[in-house]
Amino acid sequence: MAEQKRDYYEVLGVSRDASDDDLKKAYRQLAKKYHPDMNPGDKDAEAKFKEASEAYGVLSDPEKRRQYDQFGHAAFDQTAGGGGGFDFSGMDVNDIFSSFFGDGFDFFGGGSRRTRSANAPAKGANLRTSVRISFQEAVFGCKKEIQLNLKDPCPTCGGTGAKPGTSPETCSKCGGSGQVVFTQQSLFGMVRNVQACPDCRGTGRIIKDKCPNCRGDGYVTNRKTIEVTIPAGIDDGQSVRIREKGEPGINGGERGDLLVEVIVAPSTEFARDGYDIYSQVPISFTQAALGGDIRIATVDGDVIYKVKPGTQTNTRVRLRGKGVPTLRNKDLRGDHYVTLLVQTPESLTAEQRRILEEFDATLDTRWSAKADKAAGSEKKSKKKKFTEKLNEIFD
Ligand SMILES: [Zn+2]
Ligand SMILES: [Zn+2]
Repeated sequence: MAEQKRDYYEVLGVSRDASDDDLKKAYRQLAKKYHPDMNPGDKDAEAKFKEASEAYGVLSDPEKRRQYDQFGHAAFDQTAGGGGGFDFSGMDVNDIFSSFFGDGFDFFGGGSRRTRSANAPAKGANLRTSVRISFQEAVFGCKKEIQLNLKDPCPTCGGTGAKPGTSPETCSKCGGSGQVVFTQQSLFGMVRNVQACPDCRGTGRIIKDKCPNCRGDGYVTNRKTIEVTIPAGIDDGQSVRIREKGEPGINGGERGDLLVEVIVAPSTEFARDGYDIYSQVPISFTQAALGGDIRIATVDGDVIYKVKPGTQTNTRVRLRGKGVPTLRNKDLRGDHYVTLLVQTPESLTAEQRRILEEFDATLDTRWSAKADKAAGSEKKSKKKKFTEKLNEIFD
């Protein structure tokens, strides 16, 4: 099961329409904050640094960013070895950094401190939900309807949270900025720290008379039905992003996104690993010996496969392109591997038994009872196994 990942835009703290420059600035800021050189021995900082590096790695590449916008993390399925995403888990942090900016990058140089005013538009938070689909639906994609509660601006107060006829007052603690500033001594000199104002919780406004409809929240919750298009090739634990179906934006900012985690029900006949499918098909021992056509169930329906004469049990057969379509190109598919299992009959009619005994009598010296007397113990034991098997069948 894929680990739940934070949204890349969220990680970098930028809006979805952030320019390349914005991304670079945001990443530089985070890298500066969490770089292990600045936080020796702090595993959490290192994890944050890698997370930011991964996010920047994807979003700074226009093609990867486009895929991510469309499919979210599912676009970079790492189990399939697609190579589109990033995995920095084993990398040295300095390598990560120089891979984006080159070795000569001035890591701790100037760079502007980004502060957000309380009145600036901000994107709403992302919401997460999940949907259950069948194995077949995951292979070929599907549409699903999901129901969830979404917040909308309150129609009574227009989203201000104040009783109609009144308006929110400017917060006296922060003067309406929504932020309180304090300075702190650090290794690098005095650092200005900005925090959300505790009185108004960063909104810059205090509501004295609350709207009776939303009790001052500014939002009402509505039950909504949303259609999710699940792309062919999605795997268990991956998520689909639906833009602007998350929490409402703040001060006119865009809504957050809805991230739908896909839970795929296991199949009774197929197993899946990345984009490849695995199954087992029993064949009779005469089919194995003589060869012939067998029917193999695939996700596309049954196919006829020609078994070669002399096929051994556990032989693996590859059906090219009968696997799962890849997320990036549904015409490009994995393979389906079939393990052929030779079945020994558990009961025989008198006629079948006679035929098999006749057959046994024709076997060459490796198996024959006649040669056994002259043969060494190894051959003897082989012969024993064979007759033991027959006895099991005939008794
Ligand atoms: Zn209201
Ligand atoms: Zn305040």
